[in-house]
Amino acid sequence: MAYGDRNYRDRDQPPREYHKATCSDCGNECEVPFKPTQGKPVYCRDCFKKHAPPRDNNRRRY
Ligand SMILES: [Zn+2]
Repeated sequence: MAYGDRNYRDRDQPPREYHKATCSDCGNECEVPFKPTQGKPVYCRDCFKKHAPPRDNNRRRY
């Protein structure tokens, strides 16, 4: 099975670029791994967790 063989060599990804942004919630300066979009709220790590939707879908039964 040479199926997943390629993915192994794919580790040479460039480091993530962080952009400075101001958290839309607490107003703290933070860095985000994506380019902040104007008009869209940006959250620091703590606030991001607060705003993330609860993972309730995992409890689905088959
Ligand atoms: Zn925040």
